[in-house]
Amino acid sequence: MSNWTPGKKSQALFAAAQKHIPGGVNSPVRAFKSVGLSPFLVQRADGPFVYDVDGNEYIDFMGSWGPLILGHNNDEIRDALVAAAANGTSFGASHAAEVQMADLIVDMMPHIEMLRLVNSGTEATMSAVRLARGATGRDKIIKFDGCYHGHADSFLINAGSGLATLGVPSSPGVPKGAAQDTLTAAFNDLASVQALFDANPGEIAAIIVEPVAGNMGCVLPNKGFLEGLRTLCTKEGALLIFDEVITGFRVAKGGARERFGVEADLTTLGKIIGGGMPVGAFGGKREFMKLMAPEGPVYQAGTLAGNPLATACGIAALTQLGAPGVYEQLEETGQQMERILREAASAAGETICVNRAGSMMGFYFQDGPVHSFSDVSKSDIAKFNALFKGLLAHGVSIAPSGYEALFVSLSHSDAVLNRARSAFMAAFARLKG
Ligand SMILES: *Cc1c(COP(=O)(O)O)cnc(C)c1O
Repeated sequence: MSNWTPGKKSQALFAAAQKHIPGGVNSPVRAFKSVGLSPFLVQRADGPFVYDVDGNEYIDFMGSWGPLILGHNNDEIRDALVAAAANGTSFGASHAAEVQMADLIVDMMPHIEMLRLVNSGTEATMSAVRLARGATGRDKIIKFDGCYHGHADSFLINAGSGLATLGVPSSPGVPKGAAQDTLTAAFNDLASVQALFDANPGEIAAIIVEPVAGNMGCVLPNKGFLEGLRTLCTKEGALLIFDEVITGFRVAKGGARERFGVEADLTTLGKIIGGGMPVGAFGGKREFMKLMAPEGPVYQAGTLAGNPLATACGIAALTQLGAPGVYEQLEETGQQMERILREAASAAGETICVNRAGSMMGFYFQDGPVHSFSDVSKSDIAKFNALFKGLLAHGVSIAPSGYEALFVSLSHSDAVLNRARSAFMAAFARLKG
């Protein structure tokens, strides 16, 4: 049972995929390389379930990497999509649903006074950084080790050995110049941020941070960390950018602003706001957003931006998330899932550290606490990989890497979680064997 392998159809399809698609995938993690496997290929998905081409059902805790907070194949989103498609797939011109979507976002996140829609989280962060540079006339930015902001040049940077060292590209093809303007600090370490400001006076345009880091499992901000970043940015004349591509509409209806009470100058959104369609957004204070073309000089554009199918799905998703009780239910489901992880590990005599913010969480094979990327890297990844395999064998699918978050959705009912509990119990129990 624990030596899970993909079914015959998945194997054949994946072999065919590799002929004309690099690595057989359109996004690297999908290849299951980090867990030493080849992937199952998906036929369809519904609610909390994903079905592969071989007819296997999995309870899914990946939610398409975060967007599907309402579950797969949500009725309202699908209906909205079908209705919108009857009017055409793209206009390349302004239309009513864009206005409605912008109003809806501002309504739920009032600290965003103006925003622009783009096609992905990567475009959102890239554009927000350009705006920050345009607004301040400075080139350098600070990011945090272990935070992911999409695949634009400025963000693919390692920390290097020292906290205050200049960035080194972590992918060939990223120019040294781009890397040198990205400084990296340690998450939850304000002193490492202060040191970068001291070493680069008047040169830093912005700090970009995931307010809850969701690309190294799940790492919460320590008390005072986000507040400290806010204070430093204000003092140094730099902009604070919250990359809420995961946390927006995930950790609270109003995102990190609501959950932690700290206000960024610019916020980037993605994932959930598209309801599964390719959408991103960046927005924030009017004084900065007015600098965007055509009102101002900072250029950014998109052929398919504000696409009518995408906005229809986004509106359907956000409308449902605005209903009363939604985030209470997500918190409860998150709590249940955390309990399952802890109980399954403890019953098997395994030590894990669990971090959680509402319906997103991460677990690490170590004592913890886990506050930063260097803490994360102390985890036993071999054990994670074995667990991942065991879970698949028992009909549960989580993200194929020990550095990813686990998400629950509104479709994860008590009955589904009970089934998941048995699978986690069995998969943890097998780790010893
Ligand atoms: C996923 C993600 C991005 C990139 O979004 P894409 O839509 O994949 O381009 C940016 N920032 C964060 C925090 C993310 O999790």
